[in-house]
Formats: sequence, structure tokens, C-alpha cells
Amino acid sequence: MNNIDFDKRHIWHPYTSAVNPLPCYEVTGAAGTEIHLATGEKLVDGMSSWWAAIHGYNHPALNAAAHQQIDKFSHVMFGGLTHEPAIDVCQQLLAMAPAGLERVFLADSGSVSVEVALKMALQYWACQGRPDKHKIVTPRNGYHGDTFAAMSVCDPVNGMHSLFSNMLAPQLFAPAPQTQFGQTFSEDDILPLEELFDSHHHELAALIIEPIVQGAGGMRIYHPEYLRRCRQLCDQYDVLLICDEIATGFGRTGKLFGCEHAQISPDIMCVGKALTGGYMTLAATMCTEDVALGVCQGEPGVFMHGPTYMGNPLACSVAAASLNIIAQNNWQKQVEAIEAQLKATLPDCLSLAAVKDVRVLGAIGVVETHHSVDVARLQRHFVKAGVWIRPFNKLVYIMPPYIITPDALTRLTDAIYDALS
Ligand SMILES: *Cc1c(COP(=O)(O)O)cnc(C)c1O
Repeated sequence: MNNIDFDKRHIWHPYTSAVNPLPCYEVTGAAGTEIHLATGEKLVDGMSSWWAAIHGYNHPALNAAAHQQIDKFSHVMFGGLTHEPAIDVCQQLLAMAPAGLERVFLADSGSVSVEVALKMALQYWACQGRPDKHKIVTPRNGYHGDTFAAMSVCDPVNGMHSLFSNMLAPQLFAPAPQTQFGQTFSEDDILPLEELFDSHHHELAALIIEPIVQGAGGMRIYHPEYLRRCRQLCDQYDVLLICDEIATGFGRTGKLFGCEHAQISPDIMCVGKALTGGYMTLAATMCTEDVALGVCQGEPGVFMHGPTYMGNPLACSVAAASLNIIAQNNWQKQVEAIEAQLKATLPDCLSLAAVKDVRVLGAIGVVETHHSVDVARLQRHFVKAGVWIRPFNKLVYIMPPYIITPDALTRLTDAIYDALS
């Protein structure tokens, strides 16, 4: 059996059937903004491997960090032990994070960091003698990960809650924000959430939201005023605000963190995806001093969570190197240039009959179609055109590495235009 046949016969891939999977392409290398296939094609990467590879593949500084650390030690347990890679990455994270975040919990994936954030919020209120505050409120069209607590706050339709209705904690859902980024904010947009707070605040532990860009739940880009109002409602009604910056963090939206568009700070914030520059899995849940004190007050006095690979030194050292690159501050000009080019070119797609909407923010470009696209056909088209773009449902979208050249970006946008023509 050749590699591709074995893969198809035995290996699950994300969000596809195990018995009749979408086609897969074997990769033998990746460098800069290119992914190399076993069949010889070199594809311009439009996905940053799901928001992660912001500095491009095979980056010398990230490679060096991994090499240096692996020759010292790859991992030790984090219970009772600590090390410089973890300290380095947490120092840098706190230095760049929104004001007020002072404690870091290192988690091993984005979903786990969301589990940790939700558990922190619930334990916070339980330890304040308010176990009645045990529900989470969130806008529809959100995406926060695939584990069960994370799933409970994903969009109930996209997240297929009906399949798991006996297993998922029942949460409260507000309509998704309607005013788009750049439009005039409509007061009507926040009313349903205000009403939910007004009638349910006594049972609300936290509001969880993706700042400004709702990612996998629909690639929707909303008005910062909505997020500002979320912060105000949380303050007014004693509810914790959790910002899920796993997709939006580290410059992707044109600000270092999405919540900077609204000039607010959350009580708890999750980061992941681009944290290691796309090298390996690592995420973090940050919180304020108030949350940390609240969680650890009274019984049990500890936070009961500790992944085996917590603070993995290899991942932390690469993350620290990636944050170093971000601190050099080239990302801002790079993301601005990508945004300007996307705004100049992607709206051409609006002339196509298949296209319903085009949205751009920072280094994110989204083309929404009227009907669900044929993923296998589009993938074939894109590979033929020498690009890697992976659409889902009605969304053909790109979030390329920040180092992409104007020519390579043109190849991505041209390929989208041609594919939908
Ligand atoms: C990807 C994502 C997650 C889940 O992260 P994993 O590392 O895939 O578990 C959670 N929230 C948001 C906003 C994401 O984009």
C-alpha cells in the first residue's frame, strides 16, 4: 500500500469522514511561504496552517530555538519543577498582553486553554460562595474548540449541539453581533445581550467571545463597540469576560490582540495557534490577579488542572523565539501591507455570481459564497494553481504568513477569483 492509500484507509483527518474522506496531499517539506508536495508541486500557503505559521515555515530563529532546547532537555514535569523556556515565554506574554493580566497557565492546545478558562471562571464564583453563577453566555457563530466544555460555547448549529445534547452543559446564547467592522454601530446590536445579562446575571459566571473576528464559526468581522459593551455589561453585572484570542492573537487583525480594537482588557484571555509560530502545540490562559486570588481563596485553595506536558520546554523555547520576532515589530507593517493589498484586490470577487460578500481585516481575507463550495474540487483547482487554500462551507478565506510577498499574495487572490468564476 502506498502512503496516500494507507492514510486514506487508516488515518482520521480533521472534519472529514473516515470511510469516505476528502482527498489529502502528502507534504515533504515547507519553507518560507511555500508548502512542498510529494508530487513535486510547491504551493503558496494561504492558511498559515490554521492561523499558526505567522513567520513562515522552517524559520532559522525558530529552528535554532528548537535545536538548542532539544540538546539541553525536551521535557520535564511542571509539577514542582520550572525552567527558563517557560519563564521566558510567560514574561514575554505578560509584557505584551492587555493591561491587568498577570498570571499565566500554560496549556497544551487551544481547546484545553478554553477548558481552563471556563473552569477558572466557574471555580472563581464557587469560591466566592456564588455556585449559582455557573453558566456561560456567548454570541452565536462562535468557535472555541472541540472538547466538551469548549463545544458547549460553540455555535449550537455549526457545533451540532443536537448530536450531543445529553452531554453538553446548557449555556446561554445571544444573537451574533450584526454591525460589521467599519459600519456605524447600531444600538440594536447589543440589546439582546443586555436583556440576557439583565435577566440571567445571577447565574452567569462569564461571557466568552472571540474579539472582533469570529473565526471557524463563520469568519465574521464585527464592530469593536460590541466588544466594548460586552466589557461594560460584565463590569455592571459582575460577570467575568473571557477573550478567546487563539485565532486573533499576535497581530493577525492588525492589532497585537483583537481586544485592542476596542481598547478593553479581559479578565481571562486564551492564546494558542500562532504562539509557537506554527511549530508545535502550545496555548496559554492568562488571568488577572483578582481572578487568580478568587480561584485560590478558601477550599480547595488550588486550581485542579495540570496537563502532563504542561509548560513543555521545547514548545516554550520555540514560542519565546516567536514572541521575540513579534517584539521586533515588523509584523505591523507586514500585516498593514497585506490588508491594503487584500482590500485592493479581493473585492473584485464581488462581481462573480457565486459570491455573496467579501471581508478583510488585517491579514485576513474572506470570500463568502451563496452556496456551500465543493471542497475537493476547489482544493484540486488551488493545487493546480500552485496555492494552498482550504475552504469550508460557504467560506473561501486566507490568512497567509505575515512574510508573504505581494506577488505570492496576488497568486492567492487570483486563484480565489478564478476558482469562483
Ligand atoms: C482553533 C481555535 C480554538 C481551538 O484551538 P485548538 O488548538 O485547535 O484546540 C479555540 N478557539 C478559537 C478562537 C480557535 O480559533
